[in-house]
Amino acid sequence: MQITPNGQEPIVSPRIDPAEATGKKNILGYDRDDLKAALLEAGVPEKQVKMRTSQVWHWLYHRGVTDFDAMTNVSKDVRALLKEHFLITRPEVVEAQYSNDGTRKYLIRFADGNEAETVYIPEDDRGTLCISSQVGCTLNCKFCHTGTMRLVRNLTAGEIVAQLMVARDDLGEWENPTEGRRVTNIVMMGMGEPLYNFDNVKKALEIVMDEEGIQLSKRRITLSTSGVVPHMERCGQEIGVNLAVSLHAVRDDVRSDIMPINKKYGLAEVLQACADYPGAHNARRITFEYTMLKDINDSDADAKELVRLIRKYKLPAKVNLIPFNPWPGSDYECSDWDRIQRFSDIVYEGGISAPVRTPRGRDIMAACGQLKSASEKKSRAERDREEAAAKAATADGAHVDAADSALGWV
Ligand code: SAH
Ligand code: SF4
Repeated sequence: MQITPNGQEPIVSPRIDPAEATGKKNILGYDRDDLKAALLEAGVPEKQVKMRTSQVWHWLYHRGVTDFDAMTNVSKDVRALLKEHFLITRPEVVEAQYSNDGTRKYLIRFADGNEAETVYIPEDDRGTLCISSQVGCTLNCKFCHTGTMRLVRNLTAGEIVAQLMVARDDLGEWENPTEGRRVTNIVMMGMGEPLYNFDNVKKALEIVMDEEGIQLSKRRITLSTSGVVPHMERCGQEIGVNLAVSLHAVRDDVRSDIMPINKKYGLAEVLQACADYPGAHNARRITFEYTMLKDINDSDADAKELVRLIRKYKLPAKVNLIPFNPWPGSDYECSDWDRIQRFSDIVYEGGISAPVRTPRGRDIMAACGQLKSASEKKSRAERDREEAAAKAATADGAHVDAADSALGWV
């Protein structure tokens, strides 16, 4: 971060979306129907709209262009119309950090100044991008860094897709779109609860899965939820991606203590929703995420109960054991390595796969549960100063709080 000559950090005030300031709209984030309607409204002749939509879609999402003039098979007249009405803008990458294990973390600032983090995790046989769905989170799970932030707002479909676009820019992936992919998988496991932003997440994933665009198969996309029961079935039916569920405890008292959402949707309801998840079967198992918290959820009895529950509900499931990743001020400790190993063995002996997830990117605070916007890490005084400046600059400081209360789900 740059420091001003008087030694203070510069005040980050919300930027006006460049698209809005020019009266032009950002074309990224439209689904096909939106794009068709937008082209028609911009004056593209009706007879051409279908073809032009396909062409523009291809350039935007298959080739990743950021300039209408690069769309060489689109006629000059139509390109002129596009330039008159639209922009192709990516959000700003304020900081890109590279871990020594190859993990990359991007701090992305959206047009209104809000920020979210996106993490790229390369492995031998795949490259996974961990995408955020909200700025902050309403749910306050006690072991999660994001949970210490309040919910600022939902991300739009465009902002969710844009996280993939900027990662692909950084990885130089557009040049060779079908071979040598760097991002082969997506996990909706960044900041926020994706099922509390269902419509935008759905639209974003539809754009990402489109066969004439980015072409990621639904089998390569996993959505993680803390157990928002009413939307789990919709997720399977309407989006069709793999489901991961943050379980983290096998008794309601423990789960309610560490994950307050359990008071609303308890274990039995969550497990029943997993049993009913459309498309779950042995070849397409549900993943249970289980963060190993020392002396909280890591006993032999917990492991045995986990096996019993998975059997009771006849779940085609595997368990991902996540060593707890500490963050400044966290109250928990990670279970000892022997304990994690023993827990894993018991679950394996029960016939259920239970690998331990190797923590990635811990040195840059990019591992599970460590994400938090840099702006939120600042002191209260700094934030007050910024908020005052932002309000004065835009006279629009109210929308964040309004969004917060409108979304007070739990
Ligand atoms: N909100 C969704 C998506 C976030 S996914 C959800 O909760 O499922 C991130 C995963 O990391 C979740 O399983 C979450 O519970 C887990 N997690 C959160 N904080 C963690 C921490 N400090 N260490 C390890 N895992 C953590
Ligand atoms: Fe939100 Fe998931 Fe963190 Fe819980 S674990 S606070 S649901 S991001």
